[in-house]
Amino acid sequence: MFQQRARLEPHPVSHYESPFGTEVFITLRTRPCKHARKNGPCKFCGLHKQDAQWADAGPLTEEELLVQMRKSLADLPAGKRGTVRKVSIITNCHSTITPDVIPVTTLNKGLSFLVKKLPKLRHISLETRGDMVDSRTLEEISNNRDLVNRRITKELTIGVESGIEAERLNTGKRLSDQQIASAAKILAERGWGLRAYIIHHLPGRPLESATADFVKAAEFMAGLRGKFPKIPLTICTMRGYIPAERKEKDAFSGYTPASERQVIESLLAAAEICRRNRVTLSVDLTDADQLLTNAVHVPVTKFQRTVEKFHKTQDPTVLRNALRRKRQNL
Ligand code: SF4
Repeated sequence: MFQQRARLEPHPVSHYESPFGTEVFITLRTRPCKHARKNGPCKFCGLHKQDAQWADAGPLTEEELLVQMRKSLADLPAGKRGTVRKVSIITNCHSTITPDVIPVTTLNKGLSFLVKKLPKLRHISLETRGDMVDSRTLEEISNNRDLVNRRITKELTIGVESGIEAERLNTGKRLSDQQIASAAKILAERGWGLRAYIIHHLPGRPLESATADFVKAAEFMAGLRGKFPKIPLTICTMRGYIPAERKEKDAFSGYTPASERQVIESLLAAAEICRRNRVTLSVDLTDADQLLTNAVHVPVTKFQRTVEKFHKTQDPTVLRNALRRKRQNL
């Protein structure tokens, strides 16, 4: 009889200095994206096939989860483990919090494991599609005694991708403004934060409009702030990247990720809106292809240093000064 091979190798772990201190991304090996199988992949997505060989696998078992978490922590550079303040658990599929991917009792065992192994851990982030937020699952995680005793804050990351609903729908993401607002309501009721992933230059959009689009994303989050005054809100953006196997295809023909300078300009344009509306603004410094290959060894660039300085302060002056230096160096 055919036996499914256990999923004991996580994807490469990565870390960077986020607004919350050292943040580690653990990318679990689970199963392919259900949304992509049903409706076709989102146009920009290069990740949904990463775990294709487990298309018929069941949910992650406790052993698979704990082995993958242990290996991810072991792969961090020496000394890093003691400094970790935040862990983001992500997958290359639709969710980390639905029972077809990880049953909540299993997930809670994994979270307790992280609390025990990481003495400075204060923040946990999980990830799901915006139309898959389930109140009872959040409650079960909120009741995890190890998280309660450590006073761990909890956040759900949702791939919002764009502040413009029509663009979001155009990409095949099929996530409306209303669905995101409904997710935020559930999170607000449970005391969870919302981190919206935004692609800075969305494939299919002109590069010239990336900054204006990013400002719209900030305004979209400001709109959520108006409805949910207390919920911690974060924008995490990435520059955009071309998935290795899709270079020549559809949305990516002629696509260029924004330059570092344009990303800084966009952050600056959005920073005041975010500050006024208490939205934390951050950049994912782990380029997705690097994340899947050798993220631990991603070199630290001037751009990263600027962004990390901004992360700590959320002060637009950091970005303004960086832009002035870039202009002087031209
Ligand atoms: S972006 Fe998310 S929902 Fe869309 S295909 Fe990729 S993994 Fe699936």
